Parts: sequence; C-alpha cells; structure tokens
Amino acid sequence: MSHCAIVGINWGDEGKGRMVDLLTSEYDIVIRCQGGGNAGHTVINEKGKFALHLLPSGIFREGVVNILGNGVALDLENLWIEMEDVRSKGVAITPENLKISDRASLLLPWHRQLDGLEEARLADKKYGSTKQGIAPFYSDKYQKKTIMAGELLHPAHLKEHMADLLEWKNLTLTSVYGAEAVTMEEMKNWFADYGEKLKPFICDTGKYLHEAVKNGKKVLYEAQLGALRDVDYGIYPYVTSSNTIAAYAPVGAGIPGVRADKVIGVVKAYSTCVGEGPFVAEWFGEEAEKLRQAGGEYGAKTGRPRRVGPIDIPATRYGVQCQNATDIALTKLDVLSYMDEIPICARYELDGKETDDFVFPVLLQDCRPVLKTMPGWKCDISGCRSWEELPESARNYVLYIEEAIGCHITYVSVGAERDAYIER
Ligand code: GDP
Ligand code: MG
Repeated sequence: MSHCAIVGINWGDEGKGRMVDLLTSEYDIVIRCQGGGNAGHTVINEKGKFALHLLPSGIFREGVVNILGNGVALDLENLWIEMEDVRSKGVAITPENLKISDRASLLLPWHRQLDGLEEARLADKKYGSTKQGIAPFYSDKYQKKTIMAGELLHPAHLKEHMADLLEWKNLTLTSVYGAEAVTMEEMKNWFADYGEKLKPFICDTGKYLHEAVKNGKKVLYEAQLGALRDVDYGIYPYVTSSNTIAAYAPVGAGIPGVRADKVIGVVKAYSTCVGEGPFVAEWFGEEAEKLRQAGGEYGAKTGRPRRVGPIDIPATRYGVQCQNATDIALTKLDVLSYMDEIPICARYELDGKETDDFVFPVLLQDCRPVLKTMPGWKCDISGCRSWEELPESARNYVLYIEEAIGCHITYVSVGAERDAYIER
C-alpha cells in the first residue's frame, strides 16, 4: 500500500495525529492536504507532548519528508511560531524535512481579523469558529483574492499583487465592519517578519512528489477534522471550509492523479464535537462532565470543553461511507473503562419513526437518539497490547461497532502514547 490517507470519520479530534505519528514509521512522506492552524493534532512520543496545528504529524520521524500541500490554509505567522516551539523541544525542522508547496495560498492577517469580526456580528448565531481565519481565507482563495506561497520568491510581482489585494480588502474591512484599513507598510513588515523566514521551505512540491512517487516512495495523507465537518458532505453550515474527505487528499497534497489505496478512518470510542451544530447523541450535566473528564475532552487549539456523548452509529456509518474507509482505528477505548454499561446511539428517531440514516442536516436537530447499552469491563485496559488481552466485553463492544459501521477495525487505541494500541 503506497498511498494511505488518515482521516476523521466524525466531527474531528478522533486521534488522527496520534495515528499518523504511529504509522509514519512505514512511510516516506507525510502531507497535510487541507485546513490550517485550526487543527489540533496531539502527539505524545519520546520527544514529548505536542499539539500540532499546521505541521504534519510526521515531523518527529527522522528521514520522513513532511509537506504542506497546496490545499492548506498557509498561515505563515502561526506556522513560524509553531516551528519555533517544536524546535525548542529538540525536533529538527529544516528544508530537508519540511517542504511548503509553492501553490499553497496564504492566510493573511486580515483573515483572522475578519473571522473574529464576523463571529462577533453573528453573536448568538455564531458557527463556533476557532477564529483562525479559515472561512475568510477559503472564500478569498476561491474568489482568487489571495497570494500563493511561490509568489514570495518573486518580490516585484508580490508587491504589485499585494497592493491590488489591499485596495480590495480594505473596502470590506472599513465599509462593512468599520475596522481600520491595513497599510502596505504593515504588510511589508509582516512579509519581512514571516515570509523571509519561511522562504527557504517553499518549493515545487508537486514536482518533488511526482518524482518521489515514480521512485516508489510511500505517502501518508494527514487530513484535518472529520467527514461530518466536510464542506460538501458535513453538517453544513457547521462545517469547515475545506474538504476533509480522503478523495480530496491527493488533490490538496499535490498529486491529484493518485487515489489512496488505503484509507484509515479514525473513530473515537464515544462522540465529541467542538463548536456549534446539531449533535444528536449529546449528553449534558453530570454524565457529560464525567466523560469529558475521563477523556480530557478540551480542545487542543482552543482549550474549549468539547461536547460529548455516546458513539453515534448513524453518524459514524455515514462518515465511513464518505471516507470510503478500508480500515478503522478506534481510539480512546480505555476512556470508557469507568462505565458500568457502555451507551451506544444505535439509531435515530425522527417524527416518531426510527431510522438508520444520518439525515439531511436541517433535520438532525429534530432527531432523538435511540440508545442501547452493552456491558462494561470496569478494569484498566491501557496496558493491553493484543486482542486476546482485552476483556471480553471490550472486544464485544468493538465487534458491535465494526458490524454496525461495516468496516474492519484494524487498530484499537488504548492510550495516547505511541505504543498504546492493538493491531488486529
Ligand atoms: P486529532 O485532532 O484527530 O489529531 O485528535 P486530538 O489530538 O485533537 O484529540 C485526541 C486526544 O486524545 C489527544 O489528547 C490524544 O492525546 C488523545 N488520545 C488519542 N488516542 C488516545 C487513546 O487511545 N486513549 C486516550 N486516553 N487518549 C488518546
Ligand atoms: Mg484535534
């Protein structure tokens, strides 16, 4: 298997970073294909604990080349800050092991500013944005109103392009939101601060990848968020502004002709969701707080408490279908060890009728979870390293999910550390 995509099946935070860090040992290249600094991929390995936002999670493995593909929202400022932080913990980041696509578009300071201004305007109707500028960035990208990273290598052209963009963007900033206009001087300083530092990493990664694939290199695609946040297939408008699905991964990576031959869908053993939007299986009160505490469910990027609930089978089955997953990595099974009985949202009830379908987004708010329970195991499973070692009721829970979502669960993760998993 030369092309493997690691993708989220649900609302994000399933443990993709943890799985990428584990599986990079088998790959030569790791590529972030979409999304931006709003990601929070937690990795715990011998180098320490990291919450990666833009850097691919293969950055810790010697010999692995990490690429930020053309599909990402390239926030030079936050990327540089993140690089400095990761480097300070003894991880080498050089143009040898990190390459930035010259076709990646730049998330500019005003995208972050506009994200905040728009969420403030929406007030209680807000989408729950991480305010990293992702939505304004992608709208500008598709309006052809931002800059490609490769333009940094052509300063005269960049200056002219920037002046045109400023004139246009200041109309929105000042007239629509009543904010201060951005000056050319400010942008010049911003590019001098961050553009210059990152210039050595920018190259034609499409060409590099074409050669690498021809020479038999193995590629891992690291997606951000999950299928239910995909702009086309998710719970619109409570989605992110890019495609989180595996089919998009090679497009955003820089090798559009390729199709991933292995798609590992990451599923959490229960449901979590950050931000707004319908969340059928949601728990509230003490029950929710207990699960949140047990799973440490606070956003890696924002620190926001995550909404929690039992695993949602209709949503997960739909996510598996959108991702066309060949394998599942089921994470955080250890978190459920405190429960006497394991709750499952097996189906939805809509208008008095039960359904297996993940229904059209606007109908989700009227769905009620149809719950079932399975016996718990009530013991610490974080030391288990083989399928046989898992208590029978834990195995039965895994097998139930496998059957219900129709995809083989190849990995069961029982801890956040690299080696805390079972392969079956
Ligand atoms: P991502 O955005 O999909 O990469 O996931 P996050 O890193 O945002 O959230 C997953 C969280 O669960 C992180 O804090 C991980 O360290 C942690 N984690 C991952 N797998 C496991 C597991 O099997 N057990 C436990 N207890 N924690 C895990
Ligand atoms: Mg995350």
